[in-house]
Amino acid sequence: MNIKLKESLKIVGYYMFFSFVWILFSDKLLFLLVQDPESHRILQTYKGSFFILLTSFILFKLIQNSYSKIESLDRQLKNTLAELEYNQRELEKLAYVDYLTGLATRRLLDEKYVLLFESAKRSNGVLTLLMMDLDYFKKYNDRYGHLEGDRVLKVVGGLLKEVFKRDGDVVSRYGGEEFVVVLYQTSLEDTLSLIKEFRRRLGLCSLEHRDSPFGEITLSVGINSGQPSVEENSEDFLRRADRALYRAKEGGRNRNSL
Ligand code: GH3
Ligand code: MG
Ligand code: MG
Repeated sequence: MNIKLKESLKIVGYYMFFSFVWILFSDKLLFLLVQDPESHRILQTYKGSFFILLTSFILFKLIQNSYSKIESLDRQLKNTLAELEYNQRELEKLAYVDYLTGLATRRLLDEKYVLLFESAKRSNGVLTLLMMDLDYFKKYNDRYGHLEGDRVLKVVGGLLKEVFKRDGDVVSRYGGEEFVVVLYQTSLEDTLSLIKEFRRRLGLCSLEHRDSPFGEITLSVGINSGQPSVEENSEDFLRRADRALYRAKEGGRNRNSL
């Protein structure tokens, strides 16, 4: 039952109870307290006013009590709602922000990518997908340990965010050591120079990798750039970037492939 209705009924109940007790016993009580007929008559005259005063006071206390109860419940409710909102935001963060790198998760990528793909298809826009995979990363973990591996992933994620920073660019951690970048309306020439800049910055970090023929952390990039054709769907478009990445690996790693 609604708390306000419940409290109101409680007040009415107390009031009725007190009134019946008053009707049934006030005369008897008066008679017990005062026997002198003159004083008894005077008190009888003021009994009604006394009843009004007493019930007003009791009602005031009951209403005050109910109000503070409702206010405290209101506060509790607001706190619970704020907590729920906070938890909801945290859950969304977990679903959409990769905890290690701070990049978009695969889930967020999937949602944004489909929208960008459809938009490119409708407006004959150029869409670019970069699929990146660190080279010989298993060996890196084996030699330097997983914590160092995680540090490298953070560095790579940070650099990607620094380089692909245009509004609308989506930079995501696609899997363990795989990253996918989606660029909208970016020419292939611009894309290649962005990747070059990214590689330059990665080189400056000098992340040593003794078990790689390159001696440092490198990555391979598969590129699919162009206007999606009418018969193509977003999965086909992504698959082409994946195949390009495979060719980059096959071609010797640490390179781009179209
Ligand atoms: P390739 O050059 O062919 O890509 O070789 P690779 O060793 O990088 O590829 P593979 O797919 O065989 O191994 C990927 C490795 O990435 C396996 C796993 O140890 C590592 N990895 C995946 N996720 C994480 C992560 O969150 N942290 C760390 N430290 N390593 C990860
Ligand atoms: Mg991989
Ligand atoms: Mg790899």
